[in-house]
Amino acid sequence: MSDFSLDLNDDQLQIQKWVHDFAADVIRPAAPEWDEREETPWPIIEEAAKIGLYSIDFVSQAFGDPTGITFAMISEELCWGDAGITLALLGTTLGVTGILGSGTPEQIGEWIPQCFGTADDIRMAAFAVSEADAGSDVSSLRTRAVYDEAKDEWVLNGTKSWITNGGITHVPTVHVVVASVEPELKSRGHASFVVPPGTPGLSMGQKYKKMGIRASHTAEVVLDDVRVPGSCLLGGKEKLDARIARAREGKSSRVQAAMSTFEASRPLVGAQALGIARAAYEYALDYAKERQAFGRPIIMNQAIAFKLADMKTAIDAARLLVWRATWMGRNGKEFTAGEGSMSKLYAGEVAVKVTEEAIQILGGAGYVKDHPVEQWHRDSKIYTIFEGTSEIQRLVIARTISGMQIP
Ligand SMILES: Cc1cc2nc3c(=O)[nH]c(=O)nc-3n(C[C@H](O)[C@H](O)[C@H](O)COP(=O)(O)OP(=O)(O)OC[C@H]3O[C@@H](n4cnc5c(N)ncnc54)[C@H](O)[C@@H]3O)c2cc1C
Repeated sequence: MSDFSLDLNDDQLQIQKWVHDFAADVIRPAAPEWDEREETPWPIIEEAAKIGLYSIDFVSQAFGDPTGITFAMISEELCWGDAGITLALLGTTLGVTGILGSGTPEQIGEWIPQCFGTADDIRMAAFAVSEADAGSDVSSLRTRAVYDEAKDEWVLNGTKSWITNGGITHVPTVHVVVASVEPELKSRGHASFVVPPGTPGLSMGQKYKKMGIRASHTAEVVLDDVRVPGSCLLGGKEKLDARIARAREGKSSRVQAAMSTFEASRPLVGAQALGIARAAYEYALDYAKERQAFGRPIIMNQAIAFKLADMKTAIDAARLLVWRATWMGRNGKEFTAGEGSMSKLYAGEVAVKVTEEAIQILGGAGYVKDHPVEQWHRDSKIYTIFEGTSEIQRLVIARTISGMQIP
C-alpha cells in the first residue's frame, strides 16, 4: 500500500552515525570553552570543512533526500553536541535559504557555492531581515534600497539587528539583505539583495553578548551607502517591478508561497531544539540512575522517574511533529494546519522545559558549570524566540486552522 516508514534507511543511518561521532568527539568536548569565549569556533568549522561536513555538497545532499528527514536528523545530532557551535556551522544555511527562496536559477548557481567556499577557502553567509523596530513585525523594516538607474546599481542604507554571522568581514561572507524598495507598500514593497563579500559600506555594529548559543556570532549589520550591481537583486528587476505593480493595483500577492517557505524551514529549527532536549534528557537519566539519596538512586523516586518519562514522551512527540513537517515540505504537501509552525513551537518549548527539568534532577550539581545542563537550558531559550517567536507560531497556526486574519 504505502511506502510510509519511520525507519531511517541505510544512507540515513550512516550519515547519522558520522554526524553523531563528530558531535560527540569534536563538538561536545569543545562546547564549554566556546561558550565562555563567546566567539565563532573557527577551528571546528575548519575541521568540519576538512571532512566535508561544512560544505555545499553535504548540505545539497541532505536537502535532496526524498524523505525530508535527513537534514532534521543532522540538525538534531549536531545540537546534541552543542547548539551554539551548530549554529556557527549551520548559520550559513540561513543565507542559502534566502537565496533559494528568491533567487533565479542563475543567481542560485552563482551565489550558493560562494556561501560555503571550500575547505581551503572557507566562506560564510548571513540572512539579515530583523531590525531594532522590526522583528516579529517585518512589515516595519526601515532599511531602504534605492535604484540608481544610470549605473544599474542598488544603494542600501539601514541597520540590521541580531544577525547570525552578521557583519563578519575577515572571512568572505555573503550577506543576504531584505530591504524596502517601496515603503508605502509595507511587506509587499520588500526585496532581497545579495551583498557580495568585501562590498564597501557594509560593516559590523555591536556584537551582542548573549544568554546562550554563545559560540554563534550575533551582531548588527550596518549598511552605509552600500552599492551592489543590479544583478544582486534576487529574482531580478522585471519580477520586482511586476510584483510592485500588482501590489499597487491591490491584486493578490504570493503570500502563500512565502508561507510555504517558512513552514518548510521552521521544522529544521525545531530539530535543533530537539537535539538540546535529547542531550539534557540522556544526561539526566544517567545521573538519576547513579546519584544516591536516602540510600537509593534518585530515579527510584517516582517524582524523578515520572519527570524522565514525561521528558522522553515530549521529545518523541516533538520529533514526530518535526519529521512530519519536513516530510510534508519535501513532498510538496500543503500545510493546512500550520504543521511547520506547530513543530517549531512544540520542539522549542519542549527544549526549554526538558532542560529545566534536567537541572532539577541534578539539583545543586545542575545549577553549576561542573555539568552541562545549565548551559543547555540557556541555549534552549532562543528556540522560543528566533525564526518566529512562540506567539507568532501560535498566530500562524490559529490563522491557518481558522482561515481568519486573527490580528
Ligand atoms: C541569537 C539571535 C539570532 C538571530 N538571528 C537572526 C538572523 O540571522 N537574521 C534575522 O533576520 N533575525 C535574527 N534574529 C532576530 C529574531 O528573528 C527576532 O528577535 C525575533 O523575530 C523576534 O523579534 P523581536 O526581537 O523584535 O521581538 P518583538 O517582535 O518585539 O516581540 C516581543 C514579544 O512580543 C510578542 N509579540 C509581537 N507581536 C505579537 C503579536 N502580533 N501577537 C502576539 N505576540 C506578539 C513576541 O512574541 C515577543 O514575545 C535573531 C535573534 C537572536 C536573539
